[in-house]
Amino acid sequence: MLDTAALSTLLNQPQKIVITTHHKPDGDAMGSSLGLYNYLIQLGHHAKVVAPTDYPEFLWWMPGNEEVIIYTEQTEAATQLIAEASIIFCLDFNNLSRINQMGELVRQSSAVKVMIDHHLEPEDFDDYRYWNINACATAQLVYTFIVEELQRPDLINADVATALYTGIMTDSASFRLPNTTSAVHRIVADLIDAGAVNWRIHELVYSNAPENRLRFLGYCLSNKLEILREYNTALISVTNEELKRYESHTGDTEGIVNYALSITGIRLAAFIVERTDMVKLSLRSTGEFPANEICKKYFNGGGHRNAAGGMSTLSLQQTVEKFKQILPEYKTLLIQ
Ligand code: 5GP
Ligand code: MN
Repeated sequence: MLDTAALSTLLNQPQKIVITTHHKPDGDAMGSSLGLYNYLIQLGHHAKVVAPTDYPEFLWWMPGNEEVIIYTEQTEAATQLIAEASIIFCLDFNNLSRINQMGELVRQSSAVKVMIDHHLEPEDFDDYRYWNINACATAQLVYTFIVEELQRPDLINADVATALYTGIMTDSASFRLPNTTSAVHRIVADLIDAGAVNWRIHELVYSNAPENRLRFLGYCLSNKLEILREYNTALISVTNEELKRYESHTGDTEGIVNYALSITGIRLAAFIVERTDMVKLSLRSTGEFPANEICKKYFNGGGHRNAAGGMSTLSLQQTVEKFKQILPEYKTLLIQ
């Protein structure tokens, strides 16, 4: 393991740096990555963000987005960047399986591997770890890494601030989740002072949807929402055919699960979707209920207590049945 002084010394010389983040990047994955990217290029590093897959269009406006390499679309360029990197930053994930085929490339690379993350149970593949599960977003950790560890608050420019604000805003569900502490609000205030235009970022992320996305949401809420009062649980499941009918793209289903959770008394909400190669589950819960435990134990996944995900190779209907059969085990927690 390297210490901060050794990493800091390395970063005093121009390096070839790859910043990567998890499969199907979300706002925090891209926000933390582009925040760090916009910081590193000011120091003269040759830095690139390499995402394992594509990500939603509502994140494409972020500063530096045009320089992002997507592994599944530019595999050769991405492979070469990883092979030549002297430092690889792994942001918003802590297990190499979360970056698909890129995982082995990163594992085999001789680069210094830096993990900045807030998920539980990190895998041991890194040389330097900046990890805190109490952080509301990896973007929060990138901020404190730059300001407190590397002591360069002067380099939090408008581009860095804009990307980090986006990460914190999206991962804290717009500053609503319990981990949105006063310290987070102080960081957010600093980011606004540094040039993040908060109202504009909210607009670009949350008020920037194609018409079909809203129609799909309406369809899910009118026709697909199932409420299991006995378990204070709500679920929405959709088939591949329904996704196609509404021309649903990457990211278009994000957030639908939160509507199910917003019903009075509901403690657990699930969004179960049939993708081409597997069935994906998104779980959300309130309070102490461990959504991640269900994902880990039954659906080969994990995540945070109140926001977790997993997958299943059963059919959609069988997956829904399996989910329902698990609920009695958690009944006491669900009806508290
Ligand atoms: P989402 O429901 O938005 O896809 O995921 C919510 C959270 O659950 C993510 O931030 C991530 O921490 C976790 N998560 C989602 N899918 C998986 C998965 O397949 N494996 C693991 N370990 N975590 C996941
Ligand atoms: Mn995150």
